[in-house]
Amino acid sequence: MSIVTKFSPNFTAGRKNYTPFAIVIHIMDGTLTGTDSWFSNPASKVSAHYGVGQQGEVHQYVKETDSAWHAGRVYTPSWSLIKTSNGQYINPNYYTIGIEHEGKGDTPWSDAMYAASAALIRDIADRWHIPLDRQHVIGHHEIYGAKTCPGTKVDLNKLIALANGNHTTPVNNDDDGDIPQKVKVTGKVTSRSRLNIRSAPDTHKAPVNIVEPGIQLAYDGYVNNGEKINNNSKWYYTEEGSWFWSGGVK
Ligand SMILES: [Zn+2]
Repeated sequence: MSIVTKFSPNFTAGRKNYTPFAIVIHIMDGTLTGTDSWFSNPASKVSAHYGVGQQGEVHQYVKETDSAWHAGRVYTPSWSLIKTSNGQYINPNYYTIGIEHEGKGDTPWSDAMYAASAALIRDIADRWHIPLDRQHVIGHHEIYGAKTCPGTKVDLNKLIALANGNHTTPVNNDDDGDIPQKVKVTGKVTSRSRLNIRSAPDTHKAPVNIVEPGIQLAYDGYVNNGEKINNNSKWYYTEEGSWFWSGGVK
């Protein structure tokens, strides 16, 4: 993918030891050219990692290893994976990657913009091992509820499906960090003991929930290439996009 760099002075160096685990979708409420100019202006005090144009252009403003200033304010969040510490929200800029898109909230998205954004999302997810689902690809308003960004025209499920659609390689069981290959088949299992529910098939992710023994859990599918525990790398995922290890259920 061809990416034009237009580095912005508006960012925080590094990520305060956080790793990006979600991608935030924004709408520019303007043009790509206007956004290039706005993000290059130190007085604006805003940026994003990327901007995608209606012709499929991709501009990069901030390195992924640095924190862009795109979603720092939290207000009535609806996102279940929002992080807190001691009752305070942690600045989401430290653990997200932001992508702006050309147009206004009610401007239809071109096929070229969908395709370029999906390819960019896939590449970011590959680099950071981010699951491609609605828990990890979110609209800005899910963090800042007073905004409507990214507007009414983008279908995030379609964007995610396009990003996933490029992953057509078969299921593999190696440990090279590939994005998990989902097998969609629904069913129910029961927790054997206290079971951690996580945001990815990976015990390095902090649990988002813990369920007691003997609780029935519905799954939407599974992968065979999650983190391997006791030689078992099968993990189930739920409709909500959370994960649990198959060894913890019967
Ligand atoms: Zn936004």
